[in-house]
Amino acid sequence: MARGVYIHIPFCHQICNYCDFNKFYFKNQPVDEYIEALGKEMALATQKNPEGFRHIETIFLGGGTPTALSPQQLDKLLTLIHTYIPMNSVTEFTSEANPDELSAEKLQVLFDGGVNRLSMGVQSFNQELLQKIGRTHSNEHVYKTTALAKKIGFQNISIDLMYGLPGQTMAQWKDSLEKALVLDLPHFSAYSLIVEPKTIFYNQYAKGKLLLPTEDLEADMYDVLMQQMELHGLQQYEISNFAKPGYHSEHNKIYWDNDEYAGFGAGAHGYLAGVRYSNHGPLKKYMETVLAGELPIVHEHEVSQAEKREEQMFLGLRKTDGVKHRIYEEKLKTPIVAHYDSVLKELVSKGLLEHDDIGVRLTRKGRFVGNEVFQQFLLEE
Ligand code: SF4
Repeated sequence: MARGVYIHIPFCHQICNYCDFNKFYFKNQPVDEYIEALGKEMALATQKNPEGFRHIETIFLGGGTPTALSPQQLDKLLTLIHTYIPMNSVTEFTSEANPDELSAEKLQVLFDGGVNRLSMGVQSFNQELLQKIGRTHSNEHVYKTTALAKKIGFQNISIDLMYGLPGQTMAQWKDSLEKALVLDLPHFSAYSLIVEPKTIFYNQYAKGKLLLPTEDLEADMYDVLMQQMELHGLQQYEISNFAKPGYHSEHNKIYWDNDEYAGFGAGAHGYLAGVRYSNHGPLKKYMETVLAGELPIVHEHEVSQAEKREEQMFLGLRKTDGVKHRIYEEKLKTPIVAHYDSVLKELVSKGLLEHDDIGVRLTRKGRFVGNEVFQQFLLEE
């Protein structure tokens, strides 16, 4: 049964140099038709499987940028969500947002439509770096928008930051962190730049034109991030996420707990009834399929027991409290050590994992090499 719903709005008014999401430049796109198609997809999915949507706890509007839509389009979208998604048990409703797109009117529409959490893509407080990565907002936009959002009634506001950006110095990173923390928000996410294929940065990197900080500097930036967040009372509850008590992202926790969720929209992914699926990415194909009365699924994969074990470990270990024995055994019907005894012993002996009666979790040292640790849990079969 789905615990969460993800809805993809694949439009952006500007394209960032590092972005490999399914997104389209806003101008001349069939945005209104896309919103209609989303409504149709939600109707089809919930009619086909009403039981699967009985207890939705979180909704996440992501993209792309949901705030690229006009207030009228946002209003239409929210009305469709309220029409098709049972809202009675929803406690967290997040919208991603760009700081320079959030007018008072859009904020009010989101608030009135039940959105109670904003996740803003700020990335940096250094104007030069923002330009380098292809973002168009300024610090003033961030200050103005957060103040406006608080005034309208949003209490749960998060901002995303990035480090390891081209040419970024430690001084610039510390300055961005300081400016972010002054905002006194209850939640922050901070990600290191990953140069993904099919991005502008990838092309520059391939031509030797992208000067990135060294691995050591990037690790030092992560270290400073963890120290500063702790100093300001923000608990690290996941490798890249920090929050005041009571403000963890419940939606993202569904992913890390390896629980089920529905995905709607072009290129969206979902995990329902033990099957992972993804939708058509190209807008035309997505809309044609939905308007013909079919779910726009392009790929489905029934998750095997071995894959479930792997996923439970490498997703769960992202969380600071790691993977609990009780939960693992409830879901997988075997103890963690049944498959991972030698892996656990090796990682504990290297100081990368802690293993006790409650469960398994990364040590502080392990967080610096999280991906290497997670790979150890991929089973040979
Ligand atoms: S990072 Fe966000 S705003 Fe930038 S292009 Fe990608 S989806 Fe759009």
